[in-house]
Amino acid sequence: MFHGPGEAITIEEFPLPELRSGEALVRVSLCTICGSDLHTFTGRRTTPCPTILGHEIIGRIAALGPDQPLVDLRGRILSVGDRVTWTIAASCGDCFYCGEGLTQKCRDLFKYGHERIAPGHALSGGMAEYCHLSQGTGILAVPDLLSDKIACPVNCATATVAAAVRSAPPIEDRVILIQGAGMLGLTAAAMAGSLGAARVVVSDPDAERLARAAAFAATDTVDASSGGEELKKVVGDLTDGRGADTIFEFCGAPAALEAGLDCLRIGGSYLWAGSVAPSTPLALAPERVVRNLWTISGVHNYTHRDLDSALSFLCEHGADHPFEELVEGVYPLSAAQTALERAGAEGSLRLGLRMEAE
Ligand SMILES: [Zn+2]
Ligand SMILES: [Zn+2]
Repeated sequence: MFHGPGEAITIEEFPLPELRSGEALVRVSLCTICGSDLHTFTGRRTTPCPTILGHEIIGRIAALGPDQPLVDLRGRILSVGDRVTWTIAASCGDCFYCGEGLTQKCRDLFKYGHERIAPGHALSGGMAEYCHLSQGTGILAVPDLLSDKIACPVNCATATVAAAVRSAPPIEDRVILIQGAGMLGLTAAAMAGSLGAARVVVSDPDAERLARAAAFAATDTVDASSGGEELKKVVGDLTDGRGADTIFEFCGAPAALEAGLDCLRIGGSYLWAGSVAPSTPLALAPERVVRNLWTISGVHNYTHRDLDSALSFLCEHGADHPFEELVEGVYPLSAAQTALERAGAEGSLRLGLRMEAE
């Protein structure tokens, strides 16, 4: 249980919940620590406390609510024992935003790993033995061909990348720039490669992270630690000086966003997904957006269909790249404090937690 930044994680026990119709109880097989868990852990973003952190979760259904059969997003009837992933949030399906297809902005959003522990629904996070799924959660059965380590990030990192790619123009034969070589950036590079990008340029200020990019379909890598000049030169050389067709940002650094704008061609699209914590404002003259006919889009979380396409992507291409290695260690739940501290350390991509250590 997380009580707030700087306070020790505690181990607590709760009775298993009485499930209502449309709900499920999942025994957690693995929970990976996402960057936003670390934002919460360190206090860069606030969350209601006490809470159980963790939203990148995979597990097996341990119990189902009464009455109607529970079906997954592909129409499959779910049974006890099925291996599943699910959307990081449950949505009502009735409000204005759900009607607009923006289920991640539902007025009654229930977000796993971000909910204050409540009577009758204590188990809402992945850093636990069980997770209690609400009605309105998009669930997907996960085939056994995907290991826990490959499948676990599908419901946050992979699905967010799928949402960004869906929000972008077609990628085939285009020059794509990806900023950030963490879990999301590497996944985006692999996805861009699978979609037939002409070039996939990946930039990051961390040489160790950048070194992995080639194995994830990056054709060019750029060390971003010395500012944006080198990036501008590499992208310019690849595009006859025009700039990248589409840029995906997964790093959240205002300086990187400013450097990216210098690499975007006339009529290009820039997808921003990394800025999920407060930062300083950008220096951007509106005239540049107008005269360059730029499209700049924010991508935050994803909708149910993005989880579906993310899972399909991993099933088809998960073995083409070393996704398994991106989860660099698995800790027992009792060491959650240590795992959260180490996950924030330099160069670390994902650490996992499960009941028993490997
Ligand atoms: Zn996440
Ligand atoms: Zn809603």
